[in-house]
Amino acid sequence: MGGNGFGMDGFTTLMRTSGVKDDSDWLAVVLFVRNLLSKLSVYSDDKKVEIQRELFKELAKKDFSTEHFEEVVAMLDMYIMQTIGALELEEALTREKRSAAQLLNEMGEIIDTMHGSNQRQRRKLAAFKEHTVGVISSGDSKSVIVGKVRELFTELIAEFKEEARTLNARAQMLERTANFDPMLTELHNRRAFDAYLSEAVSGLKGDSPPLCLMMIDVDHFKRVNDTYGHQTGDDVLRALARILTTHAILYQGFTARYGGEELVVVTRNLNLESAYIKAEALRSSVESYDFRNRHDGQLDEQIKFTVSIGVAQWREGWDVGQLISAADSALYMAKNSGRNRVCQSEES
Ligand code: GH3
Ligand code: MG
Ligand code: MG
Repeated sequence: MGGNGFGMDGFTTLMRTSGVKDDSDWLAVVLFVRNLLSKLSVYSDDKKVEIQRELFKELAKKDFSTEHFEEVVAMLDMYIMQTIGALELEEALTREKRSAAQLLNEMGEIIDTMHGSNQRQRRKLAAFKEHTVGVISSGDSKSVIVGKVRELFTELIAEFKEEARTLNARAQMLERTANFDPMLTELHNRRAFDAYLSEAVSGLKGDSPPLCLMMIDVDHFKRVNDTYGHQTGDDVLRALARILTTHAILYQGFTARYGGEELVVVTRNLNLESAYIKAEALRSSVESYDFRNRHDGQLDEQIKFTVSIGVAQWREGWDVGQLISAADSALYMAKNSGRNRVCQSEES
């Protein structure tokens, strides 16, 4: 988490790692905290850090139930009350008036970026501005202001929920584009694989559940291309991706396209021996797969293809590079010992 933790990097990392992006309510809380609380000067810097820490601690629990959501909203609510109570209200609110205008502009920009501006958004912003400035300059007693701020808070959360839902849909689309291979649509791309594996490996300790990597390479794939054409080669790869997916889904493997005709699976719940057995089942499925293209409703001749697989299990002290190179060496052994076979890393 870089900088003050409310920066875009920290935010996107938080979205990715906490799972918060999957839940609009929670995303709303994060948006709220990031875009609003962080800019309100009624909070001292220490308090902001504290709120942020507490919130992120809650998010890390990955409990996205309604009950837990209510708890966190109550927690933020409590912070508002505590802080307003503790500070000299008069002075704080004067400063607030100044930052409110800036805040509204920034929110306007964020909303514009999200949706493009339209009538509804403009009305919402105008109402928002009226409210905020109204409450701050009302000259009401402290308890009345506190009550109004509380009300505003609830409304804001509701509004941000709506923004969050739209953002969610867009984020999911963007994520697909960014992380999945456009040709082998069920598989993650290399970028997503790199990110997934580094994060998985960095969290591993000696007593963590075993993590294994399978590296799969099509045997003599050049021949397939040379004999049947590149287009058919692509179809073979798509068929392979489907076989891989139906296997890996059974043990929650993370599947990706590592490079051209090299695919990978990461498993988080199998030891080397079990991963080897799964890889062997995969190899055998590919070998017996009846691949035929169709032309004008007629089935073409069957095209046989096979894969070689290298399997390695992460060992304590290894970085990502060491794990990949262990799987790669095992794949090399499989190729060298005749192809259409599975070898496991000797280093494991
Ligand atoms: P082996 O792995 O068994 O040693 O032989 P190979 O013929 O498969 O050799 P290698 O793995 O080195 O070559 C891979 C070939 O796969 C080279 C490239 O033309 C082809 N290839 C890579 N990506 C694609 C793709 O997306 N579509 C098609 N049709 N071919 C691809
Ligand atoms: Mg290859
Ligand atoms: Mg190959």
